[in-house]
Amino acid sequence: MDEHSEYRGRIAPSPTGYLHVGHAMTFWTAQERARAANGKLILRIEDVDLARCRSNFREAIEEDLRWFGIEWDEGPFFQRERFDLYRDALTKLRKRGFAYPCCCSRKDVAAATLAPHEENAEPIYPGTCRPNDSYSVEAAVSAAKKKIVQARRLPPQGREVNWRFRVPDGEEMRYVDLALGEQRAVAGKDFGDFILWRRDDLPAYQLAVVVDDAAMGITEIVRGEDLRTDTFRQLLIYRALEIEQPQFYHAPLIVDLAGKRLAKRDAAMSLRALRERGLTPEEIREPARASQAPRPY
Ligand code: GLU
Repeated sequence: MDEHSEYRGRIAPSPTGYLHVGHAMTFWTAQERARAANGKLILRIEDVDLARCRSNFREAIEEDLRWFGIEWDEGPFFQRERFDLYRDALTKLRKRGFAYPCCCSRKDVAAATLAPHEENAEPIYPGTCRPNDSYSVEAAVSAAKKKIVQARRLPPQGREVNWRFRVPDGEEMRYVDLALGEQRAVAGKDFGDFILWRRDDLPAYQLAVVVDDAAMGITEIVRGEDLRTDTFRQLLIYRALEIEQPQFYHAPLIVDLAGKRLAKRDAAMSLRALRERGLTPEEIREPARASQAPRPY
């Protein structure tokens, strides 16, 4: 008999900086939940953004996690080695009519969007390149490319178009979060058509994360509350690919003394810096538990 339950959790850091207390506490929660369920924990390094991820951060992550007391059963797996899987998923989404090409730059989208809905979130796409209902993917690609030429914004060699997910406007979505309770959002209002594949030929986080969580058989996703809205985008991808969705547990964020959430640029709160100051993992964990952000919702 298998001594492990079916529970499979994961921790998924991005090596774009050193881990800070906020990441560490979320991972700690993930570990506690995996252990309580007698399940497995998988380490996945989310390094799709090749330009922003650095190998020194990648190495530091594993060392910092071990020091903090996090142990994983499988991995590390690296997203940069899994692009073929993401590409296959994009092809499926294209064939099923869920993805369309878009030649807008970030600037175009920002200029056309009245107000980004939420701090740090992808702004709501105004639909400039969104095809009307009767369209073929091939015709849409060629139209999108023509538009690039017409606008004299032919991107450098090798650059093509963004691929966006077409969200079902007006659909009320809901899921029950294991930490936060019922969550609701309206597609097209709380979030818009989002990027699946970037014009610089990199898969977007939303696509890579769903493909990997499905491929790795993850049953429960434990991550920070800042990714709450992303969950709705990801649920649409699960549905479009006909993959069973996992459970979600969005852990409260850690805030600094001024009540602001921590960011990777706050070097003083990195595990490295705290360790250098002589703190032990226990001395970090206890006060960190007390400074989790109050929830505005
Ligand atoms: N890689 C993401 C981050 O470091 C986390 C993604 C996730 O847990 O879904 O913020």
